[in-house]
Amino acid sequence: MLCPICNGFEQIAAACPSCSAVMNDYGRTDDFTAPYAPYQPFSDPGAEATNNRGTMASDLRSELSCRHVIYCPNCAKTYEAAVTKWL
Ligand SMILES: [Zn+2]
Ligand SMILES: [Zn+2]
Repeated sequence: MLCPICNGFEQIAAACPSCSAVMNDYGRTDDFTAPYAPYQPFSDPGAEATNNRGTMASDLRSELSCRHVIYCPNCAKTYEAAVTKWL
């Protein structure tokens, strides 16, 4: 499975839900949020276990779709789009 957007086969074609402007692709959500992810190393072992489960769940979803950050230059807002991967 591969994402046609990440691999450059297609341009993301998303219209802003507010103003219908063509939105820009800002790359994968994971890449975009990684430096700012709220999941900092946590000393509490219980919290760490919760984070691990959450990561596994998102990995499962990411096998079917690739989440991208899309940006509307009109509204200066970012949204998340799920791109269906090619089989
Ligand atoms: Zn992608
Ligand atoms: Zn907009």
